[in-house]
Amino acid sequence: MVNCRRETALTGPRSPIPVHQGFAGSVYCISLPVTIPPDIHDILSRSRGAFVGLAIGDALGAPVEFMTSHEIRAKYGVLRDLVGGGWLRLKPGQVTDDTEMAFCIARALDARQGWDLKGIADNFAAWLRTKPVDVGDTCRRSIRNYMLKGMLETPFNQWDAGNGAAMRMAPVSLFTLGDDDLLSDCAVTQARLTHNHPLSDTACIYLGRLVHLAIQGRSKNRLRREVDRLVAEQPTFGFDTYRGLASGYVVDTMQTVFHHFFRTAGFEECVVATVNQGGDADTTGAIAGMLAGAYYGMEQVPRRWLKRLDPKVLDETTRLAERLLHLSPLFSGLAGSHGTRPLG
Ligand code: MN
Ligand code: MN
Repeated sequence: MVNCRRETALTGPRSPIPVHQGFAGSVYCISLPVTIPPDIHDILSRSRGAFVGLAIGDALGAPVEFMTSHEIRAKYGVLRDLVGGGWLRLKPGQVTDDTEMAFCIARALDARQGWDLKGIADNFAAWLRTKPVDVGDTCRRSIRNYMLKGMLETPFNQWDAGNGAAMRMAPVSLFTLGDDDLLSDCAVTQARLTHNHPLSDTACIYLGRLVHLAIQGRSKNRLRREVDRLVAEQPTFGFDTYRGLASGYVVDTMQTVFHHFFRTAGFEECVVATVNQGGDADTTGAIAGMLAGAYYGMEQVPRRWLKRLDPKVLDETTRLAERLLHLSPLFSGLAGSHGTRPLG
């Protein structure tokens, strides 16, 4: 019998699709251009998972930001809930700059219905004027520079290898879904509004690629191969012997996220393990939440966390994820084969 199965790039082990039977056993079977539509609902769930996951990881980790893993264990055992508090005295479910800066990007792209670097910079400036609960030093300096001089690219600085550009990659990943070159351009230009360092640039690009692969249903082995490529390119990101450092240095942050993402088997397990490492826990949590949310989808985000997350944040992450997916090259391609049926 002739095997008619054809897999598209959008299928993977987590999105089983019916095998097209074609005219099995018949000569007509052999080279029919069978394309199997990707499951648009899985893609939507994973896109929402990426943005909501970012906010959840931020809210879960922020109360233990700057604590060591030992201090967290002494105080909470294992931190598993959105408890609030911490050095920022947060309400339970409140998010910080990681989510707020991602909103600045997402709202600018949604307002323009396209890429808008100046719109993003203006939103960063307006956000800084609101005196946010937390702002990284590098972000604050660069945004102030933009406000004073209008510079859309901060100059190279050897101290700019923090994770402040990587933490806001969720909206950029969604907007560029389906186009790797667009992703690289947008990842680096948004990063350099505040951070100009090759390690930050590389981290942003690879995080975007991982989110793309995850949303498109690729396997964890496939994601691991992408990380192996990153490590081959920049060996400093290697994490096989994890050093347990979870600081705001982008290399430590990425190693922490990779270590926990590849060792765990579910959304909750991944994000809990990551934030309990301590250090820059809201940001490692945000990035782990984005990646795990993109991989496992909304269905795996625990209900008790969704209930506790600031409802405005849940609403806006969910809505903007969908809006950005609509703007993505991947969606234009799908709309071509699906008509203009709205998602949802
Ligand atoms: Mn933060
Ligand atoms: Mn942080």
